[in-house]
Amino acid sequence: MPRRPNIPCKHPGCNRLIPAGSKYCEEHTMQHRSYARTTKEKGYDGRWRKARARYLKAHPLCVKCVAKGKYQKAAVVDHIVPHRGNKKLFWDESNWQALCKSCHDKKTMTEDRYQEFKY
Ligand SMILES: [Zn+2]
Ligand SMILES: [Zn+2]
Repeated sequence: MPRRPNIPCKHPGCNRLIPAGSKYCEEHTMQHRSYARTTKEKGYDGRWRKARARYLKAHPLCVKCVAKGKYQKAAVVDHIVPHRGNKKLFWDESNWQALCKSCHDKKTMTEDRYQEFKY
């Protein structure tokens, strides 16, 4: 029976030989599978956390407080138009505003109040 030659596992630093056509040795298949799953699950959060931190660095003050002449440090990146799961709205920085916690809570209490039922 003709045998295709074994190839090394594609995991960096692992040279274990595996049947041609596979990607990783048994151990690394497991590792990469769970890795792929967790990054997919955490990808959104991680990306948002980073984007949020970057945005707050560029916009350190609460826009609503500044409009009232108060210089309050922003703590939250709020979506001006609620994204409701819409990725385009979610990642559109022109739809973001930096708010302090109390302004954000106030907004959630008023503008966003009725949207909770629409999810
Ligand atoms: Zn391996
Ligand atoms: Zn504020």
